[in-house]
Amino acid sequence: MRVAIIGAGPSGLAQLRAFQSAQEKGCEIPELVCYEKQADWGGLWNYTWRTGLDQHGEPVHGSMYRYLWSNGPKECLEFADYTFEEHFGKPIASYPPREVLWDYIKGRVEKADVRRYIRFNCPVRQITFNEDSEQFTVVAYDHESDVVTTELYDHVIVASGHFSTPNVPDFDGFDRFSGRILHAHDFRDALEFRGQDVLLVGSSYSAEDIGSQCYKYGARSITTSYRTRPMGFAFPDNWEEKPLLLKVDGNTAYFKDGTSRRVDAIILCTGYLHHFPFLDESLRLKTSNRLWPLNLYQGVVWENNPKLFYLGMQDQWYTFNMFDAQAWYARDVLLGRIALPDQAAMQRDSQAWRDREETLDTDESMIVFQGDYVRTLIDQTDYPSFDIDGVNKTFFMWEEHKHEDLMSFRDYSYRSLMTGTVAPRHHTRWLEAIDDSLEAYLTAPDEQSTPAPARQPVKAI
Ligand code: FAD
Ligand code: NAP
Repeated sequence: MRVAIIGAGPSGLAQLRAFQSAQEKGCEIPELVCYEKQADWGGLWNYTWRTGLDQHGEPVHGSMYRYLWSNGPKECLEFADYTFEEHFGKPIASYPPREVLWDYIKGRVEKADVRRYIRFNCPVRQITFNEDSEQFTVVAYDHESDVVTTELYDHVIVASGHFSTPNVPDFDGFDRFSGRILHAHDFRDALEFRGQDVLLVGSSYSAEDIGSQCYKYGARSITTSYRTRPMGFAFPDNWEEKPLLLKVDGNTAYFKDGTSRRVDAIILCTGYLHHFPFLDESLRLKTSNRLWPLNLYQGVVWENNPKLFYLGMQDQWYTFNMFDAQAWYARDVLLGRIALPDQAAMQRDSQAWRDREETLDTDESMIVFQGDYVRTLIDQTDYPSFDIDGVNKTFFMWEEHKHEDLMSFRDYSYRSLMTGTVAPRHHTRWLEAIDDSLEAYLTAPDEQSTPAPARQPVKAI
């Protein structure tokens, strides 16, 4: 049996680890090939300075930026089979920067020795299914050898992520705006906006966090503009929230409430599209960013062709350990350990989850929903079970702390649901921690081998 995995981000790596874990316990596993279009693993956590097209002319996958710190407590995403304490050899604080989380993701798969399954610099171009042979044809481009490869597989697992292709609305006057307009996908360094009046369109995580970055690194003012619901945080004095942007004229932005303001730059924090240009129409998931996309049994199995699986396609409160739960589940379906019901029963099951999803009206109810989903998967496999209610409660505390003060919620510490250890407080408050390197994070300032960077913390004006 041959299995193709598309993408070596947290989801694809969870799949490789799931198979390796079964092998470790004496199970024979299929032949695995993981295609990764970037030169290294870790998906979005593998930071790139590039925007637009990469060195091979491929659309850049990365949407992460410099100085990005985890937006939720690490205790909510901890792997149940590889704890932060195991990786770092000591307890660490609760909101690690990107490089620290990337290191953690890599540690588990290095230990599992699964890098050999990955073909780097190999974007998958096309996947089709042959009804007669019941096999998939996977066409990929190997940039290293400059060769197009075509290979047959019995199963395909799509783990290509869905926060990479930007959703870019147009607003009247954008074509004549004299400042910079970009999407969050192309945002890399908040220092670019130091001293500027910045407008962000959107009211979700990108708007919240890129706004916070701009504040931290010295933007003169931040305006966020919402379409449906304001974020409603207690913002710093130079941050204002307005209803939807209507148009811009020169450097003036006009809003739905009749107000206007002068802005230097506009960042569209307007989300991402599920985009699978490599998948044949009959295999392609079509959904908005939500907690229960339809057509995926147990959120994973493509109901029209259960030889195909998708990982990580839901909107995400839970992340790494949810991808694990999905990967263990997909593995066990593939290995014949879990029997699937017929298509009608799969659809009924999905519809029941969707019906419940549509009743959710608070963040808390959505967290509990996704926690129940993760538990449902874990109960069916040998993935180590963990305290989902405890994770939910940690998410609730996180929400509370964010609404207390957006600029200091990352200074809190939480208890690991895997080890029981309470995380230490970080040595520097988030607002003052300018250097986000792994070394700076893990070592107190007076013990660091290299001096702190010359750049001084920038206070918002
Ligand atoms: P990705 O990380 O997107 O990885 C997908 C992989 O597939 C990539 O390596 C890509 O190169 C590869 N790929 C894509 N297309 C192809 C192709 N055709 N052929 C071959 N390979 C392909 N989550 C958190 O838990 N905490 C956070 O703080 C957090 N911050 C985030 C910040 C930003 C700006 C964004 C956009 C997301 C953030 N997330 C965060 C959510 C993030 O989605 C997950 O943490 C995680 O990266 C998802 O993993 P994934 O493997 O499903 O997708
Ligand atoms: P998102 O959660 O999908 O939110 C998209 C936002 O864009 C919503 O507010 C939506 O408004 C708005 N929007 C969409 N189309 C619009 C339009 N035409 N006009 C005006 N507004 C429009 O996307 P996201 O905020 O980019 O977050 C994506 C992921 O990245 C999340 O998983 C998040 O956790 C992650 N992230 C994490 C960090 C971090 O700190 N570590 C930082 C950034 C992002 P409506 O509500 O009206 O639909």
